[in-house]
Amino acid sequence: MSLHIGDVAETGASDAARLMGHVQTLFPLCRSITGAGLRQTLEYINEWIPLDRHEVPSGTKVLDWEIGPEWTVRGATIHTLDGRKIVDFAEHNLHLLQYSRPIDAVVSRAELDAHLFSLPDQPELIPYRTSYYAENWGFCLAHRVREAMQDTAYRVHIDTDLRPGSLSFGECLLPGRSAQEVLFSIHCCHPSLANDNLSAIAVAIELARELMARPRQFTYRFVFIPGTIGAIAWLAANRDAAARVHHGLVLSCLGDAAPPTYKRSRRGDALIDRYVAYILAHEGRVVPFSPYGYDERQYCSPGFNLPVGCLMRSPPGSFAQYHTSADNLAFVQGAVLADSLQLLRRVVAMIETDAVWCNTLPYGEPQLGRRGLYDSVGGGAAAADRMALLWVLNRADGAHRLLDIAELSAMPYNEILVAAQALAAAGLLRRDAE
Ligand code: ZN
Repeated sequence: MSLHIGDVAETGASDAARLMGHVQTLFPLCRSITGAGLRQTLEYINEWIPLDRHEVPSGTKVLDWEIGPEWTVRGATIHTLDGRKIVDFAEHNLHLLQYSRPIDAVVSRAELDAHLFSLPDQPELIPYRTSYYAENWGFCLAHRVREAMQDTAYRVHIDTDLRPGSLSFGECLLPGRSAQEVLFSIHCCHPSLANDNLSAIAVAIELARELMARPRQFTYRFVFIPGTIGAIAWLAANRDAAARVHHGLVLSCLGDAAPPTYKRSRRGDALIDRYVAYILAHEGRVVPFSPYGYDERQYCSPGFNLPVGCLMRSPPGSFAQYHTSADNLAFVQGAVLADSLQLLRRVVAMIETDAVWCNTLPYGEPQLGRRGLYDSVGGGAAAADRMALLWVLNRADGAHRLLDIAELSAMPYNEILVAAQALAAAGLLRRDAE
């Protein structure tokens, strides 16, 4: 198992193609917090990684919430009274307000206007809007199209159902030597939006595939859930698993060209916060926790307070394409998806290798030459390795992790790790149980 940070021979080009392939395949599906598009998305994920699929029936109480009805969409249109089509769900699934109730009626232009959603500042784009918890119907459309609707009345037809059904979610559990868990949470309830939704699904599929093929210290759990209500349903049903979460990341918006952004967990100084901040020190942005954003809001609610941060490129709401038809296949870049996957490989490598060690001969420095450690580090380019050996021997006292030693020494984590592995092989270190 190759776990050294940066020791990765994967080619970015083939990663990019595989990742974009997932995004392209999933893009047309009309996902929502329940229903066929969500199930089809989970089926697709299950073709790549083994997914336990769960259905939580409508009416189930989950923490302070209740699973609502299941939403089925067959079509939605606005026509002029002489039969000219103005808006058609079949042309873009963002056109329909999510969770719209059915309607088939002629309505006045004034009445219709209260059910239209558009973006005056971005008149060519279709916005993404939902009304999960307040019964409504509506259409989302380009502001330019809305302004051109000058007739006195229109025929609206929304062919949907809101009926008792279930909320679907999927979990991929990859057991490790330890029952301690690493949680990756990915929302998959957005329809044809590429960055906010599909980018993270694609990266998670590939990360899980790689982890499946390796021995693992930690147990890894990937949850693919509808946002908010799905995370709440998962937490309600998985209090035991939640208690085993040692590190966690919500993944979202991993395909736009912005540098990585990491939002800390509510704890602020959890190990996952330290790992991602260390890795992003020179190539990204780290922001404090705030009770807004994605499902870290649920994992970091005060009762759970899990060590779960959120890894993104652009944060939600911070880019012009956010929740519009411009968050499309042209907005997401394969090379960025590959870079995000590479970043997660480095995070996983650190999760797997960072540990507390104890020097077995702490009285005076042990004689390195006698153990074959001195020759291999004798001067020149390898001098840093000797420094790493000395730092590890001095600080491996049962109170410092490898990351602590890397920070104290200002040496790269990878060099500290290599030194610790060499010392352990020579019997000079033992790993402390944590
Ligand atoms: Zn969103």
